Amino acid sequence: MANSIRIGVDFGGTKLEVIALASDGHELYRKRAATPAGDYDGQIAAVAALVAELERAVGATGTIGVGIPGAISPASGLIKNANSTWLIGRPLDRDLARALGRPVRLQNDANCLAVSEATDGAAAKAEVVFAAILGTGVGAGIVIHGQPLTGRNAIAGEWGHNQLPWMRDEERPGPACYCGLHGCIETILSGPGLARDHREATGRDITAKEIAVLAAQGDVDAEATLRRYEDRLARGLVHVVNILDPDVIVLGGGLSNLDRLYANVPAIWDRWIFSDRVDTQLRKAKHGDSSGVRGAAWLWPPEA
Ligand SMILES: [Zn+2]
Repeated sequence: MANSIRIGVDFGGTKLEVIALASDGHELYRKRAATPAGDYDGQIAAVAALVAELERAVGATGTIGVGIPGAISPASGLIKNANSTWLIGRPLDRDLARALGRPVRLQNDANCLAVSEATDGAAAKAEVVFAAILGTGVGAGIVIHGQPLTGRNAIAGEWGHNQLPWMRDEERPGPACYCGLHGCIETILSGPGLARDHREATGRDITAKEIAVLAAQGDVDAEATLRRYEDRLARGLVHVVNILDPDVIVLGGGLSNLDRLYANVPAIWDRWIFSDRVDTQLRKAKHGDSSGVRGAAWLWPPEA
């Protein structure tokens, strides 16, 4: 069998997903399975079974890339920062390599989003890409010349627990975060953060999605909430632009479906960007929910 396909594995909180990509990015196979939650050895076995089934179905063997909601500590070689807590402290990459009989590349799921979009998505061929997930939480990854930037502490791009920049007096100190700090970007720019801001302003307890629908229907309060969100997202991204100066910023996660962000945020961000003109592009992830698993597959880049 030819070693011609790229296999991606995504460790979600409640599911495992595998995908096979041809070298042109065409999707050959995809399967989701419930994870044996909390069962580390069971998950390793489940990945090995899913990959074996995939390779039988496609008729080829492949390289293996894995996306996880966490990172490998460069100091210990063990998983850290994972909300799937049973992965913490485990040598997941080595255990998977042994079970699969080949080397495995493993990256944080936000880094996988960045790799996916920089390879054949909304930021294809861009030199420097910052990709942020705006969903239940907020994470981000950086890709430079097609390669994910891991960083000395394996936290490159993790802006979610930076404080919201240029805080206005009425925004201080910001919501308490589980990390122990106040005013973290994640507490403000996540879906639950948007919903809380609306609740505090109006007393109405509705979801981010419902707020977006109301704003589109002309609801004044919902519109004001989204305007505050856009102002805060602009400030958060400007920190990134002033430090990294990426060619393209890609947004993924549920809130990336707010199409108004791509016009409204660049319309105001130049007031904080330290440049006489701003050519940075803000784009929606092309591959949507598939970007995590596609990016995992592209941790082994397509042949040039
Ligand atoms: Zn925090």
